[in-house]
Amino acid sequence: MENSVRDTVILGTGCAGLTAAIYAARANLKPLVVEGHEPGGQLSMTTLVENFPGFPDGIQGPDLIEAMRKQAARFGAEYLHGHLESTDLTHPPFTLNFGGGKKVSTRTLIIATGASARWLGLPSEQALIGHGVSSCATCDGFFFGGKPITVIGGGDSAMEEALFLTRFATKVTLIHRREQFRASKIMLDRARMHEKIEFLTNTVVEEVYDVHKKEVTGLKLRNLKTDRVWDFPTSAMFLGIGHIPNAKAFAGQLDMDQDGYLKTHDFVFTNVPGVFACGDVQDRRYRQAVTAAGSGCAAALEAEKFLEEHGR
Ligand code: NAP
Repeated sequence: MENSVRDTVILGTGCAGLTAAIYAARANLKPLVVEGHEPGGQLSMTTLVENFPGFPDGIQGPDLIEAMRKQAARFGAEYLHGHLESTDLTHPPFTLNFGGGKKVSTRTLIIATGASARWLGLPSEQALIGHGVSSCATCDGFFFGGKPITVIGGGDSAMEEALFLTRFATKVTLIHRREQFRASKIMLDRARMHEKIEFLTNTVVEEVYDVHKKEVTGLKLRNLKTDRVWDFPTSAMFLGIGHIPNAKAFAGQLDMDQDGYLKTHDFVFTNVPGVFACGDVQDRRYRQAVTAAGSGCAAALEAEKFLEEHGR
């Protein structure tokens, strides 16, 4: 257990957490910033970010995250790698348990744990993660150069992945369970117009082959309208079917909605005074880098105010 009680601990190093870190560090709160199993969050897994203000030619997601990290460190933010096992938020100082006897106490807590990729949940899919099944086109697309690739989903993430994967694949097949798409018109049109991308709608994956060979060789597909079932050869399956908020460690202590997103009022306040939430773990509506940054800023300002009001 760290002997001293921290003024503020920030959980998460995505856009929200690092923006909170910059503001908290500049307010001299010496924040401890905890980096989990997906350092840098979703921006670190994306390519060109074209809509973050201030970059007329766009900026690579990992470069943006690295710049924010350095910026916070310059003002005194400290980084710790750890996996949060449990929390005690019943009274301040709050206790964070990272397992192996490692505990941290803090007067304020900023939760910026983001959201993680959703999986289909098929046993064969789970067995082949890292062997042709992936949720990160930018991380793994390169390995499937000159091969056919499949992308699952009907939102902007799926379109973005499909477009990105055309750099490597001979052909990208986008499989979506409905006929209507959640993707924005511009992204959908780009994917539809791309010569290497073809669409299979009203279709679901029932199995991923071949677990025994430890590589993806094909998919068992079902057309939901005709009930036709067939084997579809492919070399990789990329998931682009949304995300799940990383808030399990707060179950029973913080209010959540039916999908597990942390409930906040007035932007970043949770139901526990002194505990603030920002970014994708509490935002199911906008989920943009710039809105995550905005809420990270607000969370840090509110943590500072809370400490002032409660005799830091
Ligand atoms: P999303 O918009 O929620 O779309 C998820 C897609 O996955 C939906 O089409 C959904 O199908 C499908 N899906 C969910 N669970 C499934 C399952 N078990 N099996 C098969 N299909 C499943 O998520 P997203 O695409 O990750 O986008 C999230 C937010 O980030 C959006 O606001 C988006 O605009 C934004 N975003 C923006 C960009 C960009 O601007 N460059 C890039 C990526 C994301 P149904 O439609 O049938 O439910």
